[in-house]
Amino acid sequence: MTPEQIVIVVVAIVVLLAGLAVGLWVSRRKGTPPMPPATPTPPATPVAAAKEEEAKPAPVTPGQGAKAPPAAEVSDAAEVSEAEAAAAATSAAEPGAGAPSAAEADEAEPSVAPPAAAIETPEAATSRLQRLRARLAGSKSALGKALLAVLSRDQLTQDDWDEFEESLLLADVGAGAAEDILTNVRQTLRVKGGEADPAEALRQELLAAVNTAATRDIAWQGQDGQPGIILVVGVNGSGKTTTIGRLARLEVAEGRTVLLGAADTFRAAAAEQLTTWGERVGVKTVRGPEGSDPAAVAFEAVEQGLKQAVDTVIIDTAGRLHNKANLMDELGKIKRVASRQAPITETLLVLDATTGQNGLTQARVFTEAVDVTGIVLTKLDGTAKGGIVIAVQRELGVPVKLVGLGEGPDDLAPFDPAAFVDGLLGR
Ligand code: GDP
Repeated sequence: MTPEQIVIVVVAIVVLLAGLAVGLWVSRRKGTPPMPPATPTPPATPVAAAKEEEAKPAPVTPGQGAKAPPAAEVSDAAEVSEAEAAAAATSAAEPGAGAPSAAEADEAEPSVAPPAAAIETPEAATSRLQRLRARLAGSKSALGKALLAVLSRDQLTQDDWDEFEESLLLADVGAGAAEDILTNVRQTLRVKGGEADPAEALRQELLAAVNTAATRDIAWQGQDGQPGIILVVGVNGSGKTTTIGRLARLEVAEGRTVLLGAADTFRAAAAEQLTTWGERVGVKTVRGPEGSDPAAVAFEAVEQGLKQAVDTVIIDTAGRLHNKANLMDELGKIKRVASRQAPITETLLVLDATTGQNGLTQARVFTEAVDVTGIVLTKLDGTAKGGIVIAVQRELGVPVKLVGLGEGPDDLAPFDPAAFVDGLLGR
């Protein structure tokens, strides 16, 4: 080989090697993976989050992934509590107890579920008393203001006392009670002279007129484990159905069991309304066909109440305004038939506080037809004439036991005379 030929071969080998080196470098550059982003992108929706959660390994809890030991075996093992064993057994028995599938994750997208017909929890008696006391004080203080304004004057003339009496009459206190209150306050101020506290003298007289001594307990339960049987009477529109619904709620709030009897068979709507009230707090209603014998429904309600051993059976009655003889017949029969199995423990008369003297006249018909043991004065929130409480008790000789102070389902409270008088006086 000539020296020229040797140089050509060496140059060719060098060029070949350089070409190979360049080819290798280029192919390595092409195979490099891209750099990961610095921070992960947050998932856009809860579903995406759920799917992302799915990708992570699920934490191992009893029954999820790991095979749960049989409960009997677990209960023997010292380290595992019975509750844990039960949880393990339950979750093991449930299909799909492990990590959610993609389909499940899709279903987890927030959506507005239709409202379930849940049983309501009525307000407790103590808290409603506090709430309604404030309402009473707020709405009835006009009378107190008017009376105290007169008493604060220096020298009380006959005109002043006339004004005092008129304020009482305007508040539906009734003529007899108004005269008594005036006479006694006047007497106290005269006897005590400058020593007297007119506001306190008035308060004492109002308390006496409301009769703080009267018992206002309600016979919710009967004797010897029998249910209490409460008959509810009153004219249509007085708030009878509402009151029975609220009574049921009051009882449920206090932990007693109740059954309702829709013995107002003349109004289909009344039975319907009563049933709805009951259903809201899980209380059942005994009903009869429209126009059927009310006494038969009352009998059935008491029978069922005894069978189911409830604490109280509350019976609605028809409130048609007809003559006294008819009313006596109708209520008398209901009472007779219902009490064949268990005595009536309470007869409540529902009275609309806004109807004033007219309402009292109607109420008297009921008290003559049936032995009323207590008054429920409804719509006391709808009148500034709180004096009706005094007139009702005085004229009918029956204590006000409960008062309705609003349109809410729990706006019924036991009547508290001292709180009522303080409400009248705006204290
Ligand atoms: P019923 O015909 O005697 O059964 O009377 P309802 O129970 O149907 O009541 C008649 C109306 O009086 C309804 O609109 C009730 O909401 C209303 N009502 C009942 N009690 C009260 C109350 O204490 N205050 C107010 N403001 N309204 C009441």
